[in-house]
Amino acid sequence: MTLRTRLCWILGVALLALSASGCAVNLLTGAEEPMFMSVSDEMSLGNQMAPQIEKALNGAIPDEALQHYIDRVGQRIASVSHRPDWEYHYVAVEDTMINALALPGGHVYITRGLLEKLTSEAELAGVLAHETAHIVARDSAVAMSKEMGLNALMVAAAAAGRGEAAQMVSVTGYFMMLKYSRTDEQEADEAGMDYMAAAGYNPKAMVETMQMFQELDKVRPIEFLSTHPSPENRVRYLSERVAARYPDPDALKTGKDEFKTAMLDYLRTHPKPKRHRDSLE
Ligand SMILES: [Zn+2]
Repeated sequence: MTLRTRLCWILGVALLALSASGCAVNLLTGAEEPMFMSVSDEMSLGNQMAPQIEKALNGAIPDEALQHYIDRVGQRIASVSHRPDWEYHYVAVEDTMINALALPGGHVYITRGLLEKLTSEAELAGVLAHETAHIVARDSAVAMSKEMGLNALMVAAAAAGRGEAAQMVSVTGYFMMLKYSRTDEQEADEAGMDYMAAAGYNPKAMVETMQMFQELDKVRPIEFLSTHPSPENRVRYLSERVAARYPDPDALKTGKDEFKTAMLDYLRTHPKPKRHRDSLE
């Protein structure tokens, strides 16, 4: 299928969505939300977009053991989520931005830039759990069900005649810039923390990651924070959640050594290849 066909297909889904109507229950909150896209449409859309997004993020890190490690941690999270029956793919990409994102239908990407800043398997689990919670809540499908999302997809489709790079940036840019509400983010943080703890990881690691973002952001703007609320507030409510719900967090796994061996040693000895293009930096 050509890129142009794919974009037309995406537009087709968007237009079909306009002719349908309905609501869906957010599994994280039990609340009803506007939803004009079926789960199977959402998954097909994510599967169609995934190769382009992966390419725009400078491609998957070409190491089977490293990818297997990321996926293993991710699948542990997915298996204790509200939707263990859905399909999830966790992929480490070469991009040096500090970022992670989730596509509709279960594709989660985490960048080399962010992985290099993490210090433990539990911190990795926290990031993957936050993204998994966005997928379970169908936050991107809700956003696409609103006018802004449909417009963005139509603009992307209309760009179909303007060369491949422009189209790719349109579709990818939409997802890179997709901003959920503050409430969606807090729900993803809280459900994510519960998922990581249920999967056996020390929930304090999620607080540490927020503190790391807070520190780095003093030096330069962090890409992850361009689409997320300020870390100060998140450190506060996540610390409160640990205190309220997890009396013995340190009994759960942190996994500093495992993360160093499986991830940091590889990244240090295999710098990002020059041939890759930092299209979004
Ligand atoms: Zn988020």
